[in-house]
Amino acid sequence: MTDFLPDIPVLSSGEPDTTAGVRFHVETYGCQMNVYDSQAIAGFLLDRGYRRVGDPDVADVILLNTCSVRDHAEQKVLSRIGEIRRVRDVRGLPQPVIGVCGCMAERMGEDLTRGPRGVDLVVGVDRYRDLPDLLAALVDGSETPVSRTATGHRDDSRLVAPPELYPVNNSHLVTIHTGCDYKCTYCIVPATRGPQREKDPELIAREIEHIVRIGGREVTLLGQNVTAYRWGDLDFAGLLASIHGIDGLERIRFLTGHPCDMHPHLMDGIGRLDKVCPWLHLPIQSGSDRVLKRMKRHYTRRQYLDLVAYARRVIPEVTFSSDFIVGFPGETEADFNATVEVVEAVQFDQIFTFKYSERPGVPAAKLADDVPAAVKKQRLAAIMAAQEKIWKRIADGCVGQRWRAVVEKPARRPQGSWMLRTGNNRKVIAASPGLAVGDVATVEITGHQYTTFFGSVAE
Ligand code: SF4
Repeated sequence: MTDFLPDIPVLSSGEPDTTAGVRFHVETYGCQMNVYDSQAIAGFLLDRGYRRVGDPDVADVILLNTCSVRDHAEQKVLSRIGEIRRVRDVRGLPQPVIGVCGCMAERMGEDLTRGPRGVDLVVGVDRYRDLPDLLAALVDGSETPVSRTATGHRDDSRLVAPPELYPVNNSHLVTIHTGCDYKCTYCIVPATRGPQREKDPELIAREIEHIVRIGGREVTLLGQNVTAYRWGDLDFAGLLASIHGIDGLERIRFLTGHPCDMHPHLMDGIGRLDKVCPWLHLPIQSGSDRVLKRMKRHYTRRQYLDLVAYARRVIPEVTFSSDFIVGFPGETEADFNATVEVVEAVQFDQIFTFKYSERPGVPAAKLADDVPAAVKKQRLAAIMAAQEKIWKRIADGCVGQRWRAVVEKPARRPQGSWMLRTGNNRKVIAASPGLAVGDVATVEITGHQYTTFFGSVAE
């Protein structure tokens, strides 16, 4: 048993090995929190003697860790289930066992076990600790003593994924809270992930100290809304300051923030703490106050622009990215134009744009989805075109600059080159035979192609 988390089973606990030889494969859909959860799931199963395989074709168990944020994401999983079932039918075997975890499990529950696309196991986001027991009965073919569906929220905010499994882009993910107390009208997360529940700061610190002990230098703190973190008197600014003091840790990133919780003292702290990377992903969703109100986002466009201006004053080299929804119910041409104006005003490094997708049971489902599909499509194209133009201007202006960046992984092209990432989240491809993953280098920017820069190592 690893020594840093006394009551959490993490790899090699010496539990009775009843499932030796059973191979499992986890497929992850959706956000980084699911990536972290998939590692936790793998940790629980490895701890009980299951073997992890990368190839689904040789797996006895396939677990799909799913996302419900958009209909498209759910359709992808349903079609994947159909595909696995077809292979199973052709083989004439009861395996692989198919399990659905994550937000779809929580949203659809037992329905997922019924009909031609029925799966064998459904495990919601707060039930991963039960997964090995639920699975054991299914894989050995014995009568299952427990329900095949485990959903519903309970306090599992102490869930820890073994950091030994892998870093993501050179960064170890650390979930610091789960759930969300905001009730944005379009969002299914409060239903699927439940209310916000924080991980104990002591546990977070031990998790990160362990990451440093095994050679990690960078962490990405995760949560639906990390900026709302609160443990007694400790808020997110305080948490960042305490993590900043961990010896050997070099960089701290975090995802995702809510504009309402981006208080000046938090931005001051980010600007002061040199290990905290100056990149803010702050979803605005719309630039129209009328739409923001209908979305229940609790800020205005002016407030958002003011906080961006404040951050630029106090956080050196800060960059911004954001999420946008186009075609929200009732969005007029004027509302949409206000959104494009915000894109132009902020000059984001990157924006993630989505057509409004109605989710069953959320408050916005009561509003008429009245923006025609063709208009949504055209608005999506227009906002992306506006961003492309803006970004080209920003990126052109970066040529000739020198940036410090961390080597993340080998680049796919050109051969022998590396992908590096700056603190403010810009990607640079540079060739240098002397580099290795984790090295910090100074790169001189020579060009760019959309969001990727090219450079040469200057030192
Ligand atoms: S802040 Fe809003 S959009 Fe984000 S997870 Fe919470 S409810 Fe959903």
